[in-house]
Amino acid sequence: IINDIVEFMEPVLQEKEVTVHCTMEDVSFIGDMGMIRELAMNLIDNAVKYNRPGGHVYVSVRQEEQHVNLTVRDTGVGIPEDKQKRVFERFYRADTSRSQKINGSGLGLSIVKHIVEHHHGTISLQSKMQDGTTITVRFPKGSSSNSLVEK
Ligand code: ATP
Ligand code: MG
Repeated sequence: IINDIVEFMEPVLQEKEVTVHCTMEDVSFIGDMGMIRELAMNLIDNAVKYNRPGGHVYVSVRQEEQHVNLTVRDTGVGIPEDKQKRVFERFYRADTSRSQKINGSGLGLSIVKHIVEHHHGTISLQSKMQDGTTITVRFPKGSSSNSLVEK
């Protein structure tokens, strides 16, 4: 999934002069493939979009004993500390993105949060202005998505 996304984004990466580095382990967990794709797409899209020319994005996928971890780190503009909680709200956009005229609807991270919850996972964000942002998503390995449980 990650390789597909990076390949798909190649023209944007060239245009923005951003390099994506991937460190991936083979992982297995039960989840909705389309949703996981959407989640990864949104996180990588943000990491590229809010980056700087010559910037980097580090994507890592790791298998822990009971969890699968996806981390997307960028060397971009960062998110002001007082705005960090709000970025998961629908339609919320930090002024850093509006003032720089970067397009977006403010929906991506609210969708990501929804997908994480659907899979009983957790999401955390660390960010420093002018330094970059790291988002870590953690999925319980054995736990299936809500929809699978319901079935
Ligand atoms: P959309 O994803 O719907 O096209 P968007 O990127 O503005 O639009 P979100 O992905 O929900 O919306 O992100 C919300 C806001 O959080 C962004 O507008 C931006 O201000 C901030 N943000 C998200 N990811 C990053 C990041 N990696 N670096 C800096 N700011 C970010
Ligand atoms: Mg987005």
